[in-house]
Amino acid sequence: MVKGSVARFAPEELERLRRPANGLAGGSTASPVKGERDSDRAMRPDRQTKEPPLPRPTFMDIALEEARLAAARNETPVGAVIVRGDEIIARGGNETRQRNDPTAHAEIVAIRAAAARLGSERLPDCDLYVTLEPCAMCAAAISFARIRRLYYGAADPKGGGVDAGPRFFSQPTCHHAPEVYSDIAARESAELLRGFFQARRS
Ligand SMILES: [Zn+2]
Repeated sequence: MVKGSVARFAPEELERLRRPANGLAGGSTASPVKGERDSDRAMRPDRQTKEPPLPRPTFMDIALEEARLAAARNETPVGAVIVRGDEIIARGGNETRQRNDPTAHAEIVAIRAAAARLGSERLPDCDLYVTLEPCAMCAAAISFARIRRLYYGAADPKGGGVDAGPRFFSQPTCHHAPEVYSDIAARESAELLRGFFQARRS
């Protein structure tokens, strides 16, 4: 009988049951399940450690500001910010027309500025915020720069290279993939682009 009762638990569940309840204090912010007793809740795995850190809307707000500045220069309104800890290392917007440079996307502008400022071709402790899903070129540059986390705004099903099209970070030839968090201030980002292209058409 003892053997039968033990067999109801998977090994990881048993491991969890052996752990003292006070070791699960970090899970206290998990939303309670209806009808669940405290003792049940304490036995659930601590999901907090697996969940991504909260995105920082303030940095995306700055990326949005860069996108607006780009629009004012008659550039496609996409903005990017590179952050290390709480410090903004670089920020920039699209400059392809201004520079006559098809590679001067906001991400590339920001990566170049950050690398120059830090005196390093790699930015392993840095996170990049950009208002639009990066294209394949920018995804590659993000990978080469060893950016730690990518936060992007609007999805770009037609030109994106992260969750659309080439899905660059999922390819076996990609040697560094950042953690990716999408759909951050996506509505504002998309509105900026829509407004810009509508104005150009009229
Ligand atoms: Zn790009």
